[in-house]
Amino acid sequence: MSYVGRLAPSPTGALHLGNVRTFMVAWLRARSLGGKVVFRMEDLDHPKDKPGAAAEAVRDLRWLGFDWDEEYVQSERKDLYRAALEKLVEKGLAYPCICSRRDVESAQSAPHAGEQLHYPGTCRGRFASWREANAARANPCWRFKVPDDAVVSFDDAFAGRYEQDVSKTLGDFPLARDEFGAGYTLACVVDDLDMGITEVVRGDDLLPATPAQILIARSLGRDAPSYCHLPLVVGPDGRRLAKRHGDTRVASFREAGWSAERILGLLAASCGWAEKGEELSLAALLPRFDLAAIPKAPFVYG
Ligand code: GLU
Repeated sequence: MSYVGRLAPSPTGALHLGNVRTFMVAWLRARSLGGKVVFRMEDLDHPKDKPGAAAEAVRDLRWLGFDWDEEYVQSERKDLYRAALEKLVEKGLAYPCICSRRDVESAQSAPHAGEQLHYPGTCRGRFASWREANAARANPCWRFKVPDDAVVSFDDAFAGRYEQDVSKTLGDFPLARDEFGAGYTLACVVDDLDMGITEVVRGDDLLPATPAQILIARSLGRDAPSYCHLPLVVGPDGRRLAKRHGDTRVASFREAGWSAERILGLLAASCGWAEKGEELSLAALLPRFDLAAIPKAPFVYG
């Protein structure tokens, strides 16, 4: 099967060094295997989405030299998510839930720092429809009914073997915060399947969410793609790169006179493919691409 990869930015802010490093690896991985690249704008997160950020991300990526073969916008694909949700509801695998985050937190006896929130299934079998749930408390979410034994394991191309019993870690996890299923988790899975993505390359902050996505794919009667989760870029304090670490937006480097090749060279050096200070285009990086050379630890910037 020929390789199909993807770049899937969310327009929640400007493109920064962290996003670019992941996209650089995703693009090089696909192109070095003679594969296709799909661009997908994940714009369903309305409260967090910023006006203009989608167009700016495209402009920044083009300026950096990225190209792709197909382009999609999630907000234009809601019919697909609705159809998938209906399928899950018909199979008895999705139900509406009115619990707030606080409800779920207080139901959890002693959550450990950094642990994912486990949902105890309070709303399982409680409402006959989304409307009924919505009448009880506005804006319910849809949850996936996880079987009692839901051990999912897979071989991640970068992170290695990964295993999780979703019934113990997440419990019935949220599929979408939208009446018709247009929310991140469901949309991401539906799109990866519909677009024929063979491998998902993304940041390892999403590694713990992957078994849940694999369960959704299987429930839709399909095999999930393969996965390749990469370490993130962090600041000197070890925390994920963010505004507190200063301005690492691509646009700011460009305005400060940096070339695309200088930015890519810096990130390539962090992957073990270049010397510090080398300036390289994506095309020049193609023959140097080596997944195995990327350090396992996060890249500390700054
Ligand atoms: N859109 C997500 C993000 O920008 C990535 C989702 C994914 O790669 O599955 O964080």
